[in-house]
Amino acid sequence: MSFKSFNLSQQLTNALAKLGYIDPSPVQKAIIPKALRGVSLLAQSETGSGKTHAFLIPLIEKIDMNLNRPQAIVISPTRELARQTYEFAFEFTRFFPKFKVRLYSSESDVSDNVEGKSVPPQLIIGTPGRLKDLLITKHIFFLGNIKRVVLDEADMLLDMGFFGDIEDIFANLEDPQTMVFSATLKQNLKDELLKFVRSDFQFENDNVQTASTVKHHLIDIKHIGESAALLAFLKIRKPYLAIIFASTVEKVNQINKSLKENGFDTIYFTGSLDDRSRKKALRQIKSNTCSIIVASDILSRGLDIPDVSDVISVDLPNDLEFYHHRAGRTGRFGKSGDSWVFFNADSVSGPIALQKEGVKFDYFSLKGNELKPETLGPSEKRKMTKKKELPEAEMKDIKIAKALSRTKGVEPGYKKKKKEAIDKVKRKYRRMAIRNSVRKQLDISFRNNDDED
Ligand code: AMP
Repeated sequence: MSFKSFNLSQQLTNALAKLGYIDPSPVQKAIIPKALRGVSLLAQSETGSGKTHAFLIPLIEKIDMNLNRPQAIVISPTRELARQTYEFAFEFTRFFPKFKVRLYSSESDVSDNVEGKSVPPQLIIGTPGRLKDLLITKHIFFLGNIKRVVLDEADMLLDMGFFGDIEDIFANLEDPQTMVFSATLKQNLKDELLKFVRSDFQFENDNVQTASTVKHHLIDIKHIGESAALLAFLKIRKPYLAIIFASTVEKVNQINKSLKENGFDTIYFTGSLDDRSRKKALRQIKSNTCSIIVASDILSRGLDIPDVSDVISVDLPNDLEFYHHRAGRTGRFGKSGDSWVFFNADSVSGPIALQKEGVKFDYFSLKGNELKPETLGPSEKRKMTKKKELPEAEMKDIKIAKALSRTKGVEPGYKKKKKEAIDKVKRKYRRMAIRNSVRKQLDISFRNNDDED
């Protein structure tokens, strides 16, 4: 199937071919025909599946290029996503000289357009708060010609609390065709959507997702710290383009510092960056000037960074759903990719939970400068290392011994004293256990002797 089979205008078919889009992706095959028919729908689709063009192509096809009025709106949860969609849409202006698209988010400088001095755009792309402010509060454009609205990354829009603003925008539109794209399809998302979308709304099933081409690997880093393990791993793996994720900004900072100190050129990306630094980082990322990006989970959602070969999680996010977003930064559009997760004996629960969810990991351990394939995963190792539970009374006495050996401040020899106190309790219980066992043996032999009498 090619784009020609959608019966798009010759101009759009030619534009797609010139932009290098020959065959539609699964999500495009599923969505474009319905979108062209005017169907309102919710589709599950990850970034990397081609979803942006699944909505841009029908939107552009349906825009009346001779009418200088807003005709469609795309609402994105973050400035970065909005900009990315804007850039994809802007590419089409080369082929449609009358096509006007504009970005409205807190990052874009809209001063010359806000007053309505320039020709209104036909396609508006932006973040919810900014769009509500401009379109509803300031009412900078006539909205009567808006026939289509796209909610991109709708689960994120909902999680970030934007549905109130979106509902207000919808309240000012006349029942537009609504296309919703979301990485996950939770019931509460459907419930919330049904409050304001058209009654003929269709829920697509999840068969429009692209098959995953990501391989998942667990690396037992043992007692080596995360930063040191990462340095060793990067030297072994030499990734083409890696995104390194950590769950807190502090850890991202620490890792970035350690990499820089060890001669690695990195791009740093977290939510704590100010606008200019974020934009600069995104430009650097897109211009392929560097092979290592160190990021917090803000980068795990939605952004299209081509050719990421490796995703490395030095730890797992608290909300494991973000692991899937992290891993989804690679293996995009049919390319293969690798997602590596560090763990040690103290952090087995996350990997085990992911395995239970169905993520298929293979196993490695890091030994010196070698990445060694392993046969045992975290759950098997946990079983093997699980300490034998001590009897309750013994645990209680050990606790008391510890408390008694504690002194104010840290005295010299404090640790030794504590160990001696604990050992004394353990010896006492070992003696008791031996005595009991001897008694039992004696009992048995006495009984046996009695029996013989
Ligand atoms: P998205 O899922 O929208 O973030 O798109 C992921 C990447 O796939 C982008 O870099 C698009 O340029 C690219 N892409 C989208 N549709 C196609 C297609 N039909 N053929 C090849 N590449 C595509």
